[in-house]
Amino acid sequence: MNGKFTHQLLAWYDANSRDLPWRRNSTPYGVWVSEIMAQQTQIDRVVQYYGRWMERYPDLFSLAQAHEEDVLKLWEGLGYYSRARNILKAARLIDDQFAGVFPTDFADIRSLPGVGEYTAGAISSISFGQTEPAVDANVLRVFSRLLDMATPVKETASKRNIEAAVRDLMPDERPGDFNQAIMEFGALVCSKRPSCDECAVQVHCLAYENSTVGERPILAPKKKTLKIEMVTGVLVHGGQVLIQKRQPDDVWPGLWEFPGGGIEEGETPEQALVREYQEEVELDIIPGEKVTVVSYAYTRYRVTMHCYLCHLPNGDAPEPVFNEAVEGGFVMPRALSDYAFPAGHRRLIEFMRSDLRFSDFLLDS
Ligand code: SF4
Repeated sequence: MNGKFTHQLLAWYDANSRDLPWRRNSTPYGVWVSEIMAQQTQIDRVVQYYGRWMERYPDLFSLAQAHEEDVLKLWEGLGYYSRARNILKAARLIDDQFAGVFPTDFADIRSLPGVGEYTAGAISSISFGQTEPAVDANVLRVFSRLLDMATPVKETASKRNIEAAVRDLMPDERPGDFNQAIMEFGALVCSKRPSCDECAVQVHCLAYENSTVGERPILAPKKKTLKIEMVTGVLVHGGQVLIQKRQPDDVWPGLWEFPGGGIEEGETPEQALVREYQEEVELDIIPGEKVTVVSYAYTRYRVTMHCYLCHLPNGDAPEPVFNEAVEGGFVMPRALSDYAFPAGHRRLIEFMRSDLRFSDFLLDS
């Protein structure tokens, strides 16, 4: 591959790149937010969230003044909430240490919370015109085919080889477009099922020449998924429901939830719910109607969550002690939309809102 490859790829990009909001004016703030959102997330969802985000926090200054609770709420549904917390931390750090101006030096950008090699490369090249590669999964896939790489693509040595190849081919003019062109090409043409017949750089592709496209990239064996059974209960008292905020060192720190937890061996979901309420908030509850079962995935876990309504024995005054939460309390059901919940609990709330058995209770309280 050579300058001809670079020229052909950029020509393809100029003719075929999608009109995405953060490409219209490539400010470091906009590129940064979009790149963090795009990790593990489909592009059409990113476009939606990006628009809402920019309305609420149009610049670094407005973000640096934000409350974490509001940022998490805006992020709700995108998952991987550490990304949102890191964006906020980084905005405050830029405000504090760089006088509110996005740093231009690669090492400074890389040092921001939540910013890895890839994101730093994307911001440096797209917003500041620096010749830094931005190697994401798309780029790894494309180059593993172009180079017909016979080693697992996620191994450090493979990544380094690809990074060096990108750096070699990167033009001094338009380095940001070059990085985006490879990613866009990986998303639209050299995707998991590549469209080799429509490929603008086919002539440079060693895997195509060697008929090994179907074997590239070489991936490490997938980690086994783990199944978990959980239970949660919506405790209703006096027309209000109990929620609590997760601890900083917990999974989904800072998000809200209904108390509950893992079902232990030999327990029924109802027994687990009674135990969890006792352990977490020191309340003796009575499990009531089963609302639904919610299934969701996070990292390599596949969770099945049994969801109940529950109440206190007659006459018991609710005085929860929050042993496993930062804070908590009873709130009106209609106020639940003011809090950010992890996916499973959010789905439970959505289910209750859509089911006539519960909609009156949730909307009219
Ligand atoms: Fe990808 Fe096929 Fe083009 Fe090779 S020929 S770069 S595998 S789309």
